[in-house]
Amino acid sequence: MRALLLEQHDGKTLASVRDISPEQLPAGEVTVDISWSSLNYKDALAITGKGKIIRQFPMVPGIDFAGTIHSSEDPRFHIGQSVLLTGWGVGENHWGGLAEQARVHGEWLVPLPAGLDARKAMIIGTAGFTAMLCVMALEEGGVTPESGEIVVTGASGGVGSTAIALLSALGYQVAAISGREANNDYLLSLGAKRVLPRSDFSDASRPLEKQLWAGAIDTVGDTLLAKVLAQMNYNSTVAACGLAGGYKLPTTVMPFILRNVRLQGVDSVMTPQLRRRAAWDRLLKTLPESYYQQAGREITLEQAPAVAAELMENQVTGRTLVKVR
Ligand code: NDP
Repeated sequence: MRALLLEQHDGKTLASVRDISPEQLPAGEVTVDISWSSLNYKDALAITGKGKIIRQFPMVPGIDFAGTIHSSEDPRFHIGQSVLLTGWGVGENHWGGLAEQARVHGEWLVPLPAGLDARKAMIIGTAGFTAMLCVMALEEGGVTPESGEIVVTGASGGVGSTAIALLSALGYQVAAISGREANNDYLLSLGAKRVLPRSDFSDASRPLEKQLWAGAIDTVGDTLLAKVLAQMNYNSTVAACGLAGGYKLPTTVMPFILRNVRLQGVDSVMTPQLRRRAAWDRLLKTLPESYYQQAGREITLEQAPAVAAELMENQVTGRTLVKVR
């Protein structure tokens, strides 16, 4: 079977497509024939070696995949059944989805919800799944479409673009923050009501600023998240899932103690099974057909290293699907 293999030489990560014997796959109860994977921010960090995602080489990257069961020692899965996987450290410390096959633990797999095919599942992928978890975090914070405007940062990215499509389909007014003016029409077509330039949010924020947002989905972190926090309405919620702009958070306690702002962290990797399935069901029900046409670009395994480098340079818009077979 073919796989993208990452090796390390002289401290540099090298990526190449190789023929691999299925016997080399790691331990697990279920072997999956992968048809589609996708390129996420974390994959790009791993493949380019720009982030310390992988500590054991050689490694097959790919933090998500969809396909059919090839063989299973887990009675919950049968040969030919359609499944998907995101997270659990797959593609980080367990060989991942950028390969024709993966061997994994049964409890990591989600049966593909009826109505979703493998290609659509990977247009959504880890990024879209995370966007849904962020929307659920806002809802759990009490945010409704009547609460006011929601702001989405890193809007052109996989998480941001899917968050806009989801929020808009659910009836929310969405403001998108983007560093790329050329993407304005794309973001409006996904459902954003307005697009604000990232440069408007680059100066250091005061502890509290004018109240603007009933909710926020942040994929960027650092000064942008600090600015958004200072602009949150009384009793609002921020779902923070990313660090595309940096891992720091130069903020104060003021938004929390004077405006009752809730900062909810969102992790997709270790999300428990029940919540996973609920999120996938909601993605299927909520995303309009137009999302699948707009959000996905298709590449091959061979193209993955070059596109990972583009993603690190902020030159990729929306989701990148990898056609594995
Ligand atoms: P993408 O690369 O697809 O999107 C990131 C977006 O952030 C870009 O499109 C860009 O949007 C903006 N951006 C890029 N660089 C900068 C910068 N230096 N400063 C400010 N904004 C920037 O990544 P994803 O959408 O897949 O992931 C976004 C973040 O969420 C990543 O940090 C990723 O690791 C994290 N993530 C976390 C998960 C979790 O479980 N917590 C799961 C999935 C992702 P624009 O050009 O429009 O400004």
